Amino acid sequence: MDPASPGVIRRLIEEHQFKIKKSLGQNFLTDGNIINKIVDTVELTPGEVVVEIGPGLGALTRRLASKARRVIAVEIDRSVFPILAETLAGLDNVVLVQADALKTDFDRLVQDNAGGPAGKFKVAANLPYYITTPLIMHLLEGRFAIDKAVVMVQEEVARRLTAAPGTREYGALTVAANFYAEVKTAFKVPRTVFIPRPEVDSAVVSLTVRNAPAVPVLDEADYFALVRAAFQQRRKTLLNALSSAQSCVSREKWLNILRQAGINPARRGETLSMQEFARLADAYSRTR
Ligand code: SAM
Repeated sequence: MDPASPGVIRRLIEEHQFKIKKSLGQNFLTDGNIINKIVDTVELTPGEVVVEIGPGLGALTRRLASKARRVIAVEIDRSVFPILAETLAGLDNVVLVQADALKTDFDRLVQDNAGGPAGKFKVAANLPYYITTPLIMHLLEGRFAIDKAVVMVQEEVARRLTAAPGTREYGALTVAANFYAEVKTAFKVPRTVFIPRPEVDSAVVSLTVRNAPAVPVLDEADYFALVRAAFQQRRKTLLNALSSAQSCVSREKWLNILRQAGINPARRGETLSMQEFARLADAYSRTR
């Protein structure tokens, strides 16, 4: 039975005496048109495997199941399982796994549950908002065999993911996500289509994972350490931010590294493009 309507969701919650857990970011989608648009954005072909993070009451899961060979749904809250047994009844291509998505090895999960060779797979989620950023980073940094992830996030996070250098929203998340993936906002979603209603509007974002990082660097760990250092103290100049974050390298040496990378030390980190961060990281890596 399709739970994608406010009436059905209220009935399921009442009949199962289900307690909505705000602490787990439980805001259930009630609008079938929005769910169809999310599924269209995933662009599934019938042979593909899709992992859903946080199936909740199963509204998105059901429609993913009608397009994919298999849906592997990872849900932390065991208390939704009796409801899912009802809403997903009769679907033989859905596997439910009780786990914390933040701690999940997604390649392993797919290997164990795809029911045959899976190759690359897709991810779809109406993300629990309390862990949006770490989950996106886990999906990308884990270098799993994901070719596309379509995630609903708070509108503000969508703006950060797609921000241009020098803007208020541009930050470590922007640089990291775009390093691994091509990021696009697909469409916006008003807060009115959820039960319970969240305090902010949302947006659906697609992350198409690149075959190779957007900018080649000598050492990824150096690159990300510098990105983090530059954004930790956004108001400081690069020279000051780097010298205080990585104090084992002297100020003179940082000046030299910045000069070699062709970057003005008086600039702020938030104005650097991914390519400039790459030049800076490579100049730093060469000194080590
Ligand atoms: N997909 C459903 C929908 O769109 O109506 C529910 C989305 S709700 C925003 C987020 C879901 O993620 C909830 O079912 C919640 O229990 C689950 N969740 C929260 N934290 C999780 C975690 N760490 N790992 C897996 N699932 C989690």
